[in-house]
Amino acid sequence: MADFFIHGQKALEVLKRDVQMNTVRQGYIFEGTDGIGKKTVARKFAAMLFCTGEAKPCGTCHGCRMFQANTHPDFFVMDESPVKIDSIRKMNDELFVRPLISDRKVFIIEHADEMNTESQNAFLKSFEEPPSYAVLVLITSSVHRLLPTILSRGTKVSFQPFSMDKIEKFVSDKYSLAGARAGFIARYSAGIVGRAMEICENEEILKKRDDILKSLMELSNEKASILPVVEAMGASRRDMPADGDFYFDVIMSFFRDIAALKMGGSLINTDYESQITAFAKGIRGASARRCVDIISKTKADFCSNIKAKMKYDLWITNMLIICWEEIYGTGNRS
Ligand SMILES: [Zn+2]
Repeated sequence: MADFFIHGQKALEVLKRDVQMNTVRQGYIFEGTDGIGKKTVARKFAAMLFCTGEAKPCGTCHGCRMFQANTHPDFFVMDESPVKIDSIRKMNDELFVRPLISDRKVFIIEHADEMNTESQNAFLKSFEEPPSYAVLVLITSSVHRLLPTILSRGTKVSFQPFSMDKIEKFVSDKYSLAGARAGFIARYSAGIVGRAMEICENEEILKKRDDILKSLMELSNEKASILPVVEAMGASRRDMPADGDFYFDVIMSFFRDIAALKMGGSLINTDYESQITAFAKGIRGASARRCVDIISKTKADFCSNIKAKMKYDLWITNMLIICWEEIYGTGNRS
């Protein structure tokens, strides 16, 4: 099944053209709402930049293989939140060390809008005059938090979904779905028509989503309460179920909804609004957001790691334990 939150298709096409035409810029700013695919596109962009094959990324050249194995020495991701100034300084130093195996060095800053003014100023010099081999990608969902001097130095790539109304109308017309059901599918699809169709055409998937959401809402300060979630995720088996990547998205959407309730934003699981609102009461928005990051990272690592596929149960259990600890473990309960 296709990646669920990706639909920066257009953005990817633009970047691909940059790579093909050899017009890659040195500073990019990817902006768009959370979960729209900015990080995924940034990684795919990096993969294209490191590839020495014909159709980039070819998946077989040395660069591609190192990239897939997460061992490419010229690839740097800063996923700190908030970004610390020390890390910016370290990155500034790293920036001026020539690449080891590629003719490029790629840096991704995932929460660029969480750099404070001091950090942004420390970063500005690098962003203004990077060495010729460097490509810097800033990722942000709140572009207005970046300093004007940074904004003016980067090439902005905006990630735009189809509107929810458009998708909702499309699924309700095509599949005669009404109300909250069509609404949630529109939001799950995050603006991708193909994704919305896939969900509509698979009753099993819809039922599975119900199971997973219900099990999540039974989570409590007992660690063992993750076990029903493990079960619902199909993770009592070693190999990933066929729709496993959708399950990741369901669980991600749940925590994303909690963060949205706390921090403002619209829900994905509109048909579970009252239950999720009740569950969210004792949970901090920041914890929920970190859970989203944990799940998103686990999904990305898991999906790019062939050997992992036979250890689905371990990956899911680990991920749930970390999320559980994030929410209940260290006095984060408000
Ligand atoms: Zn390649």
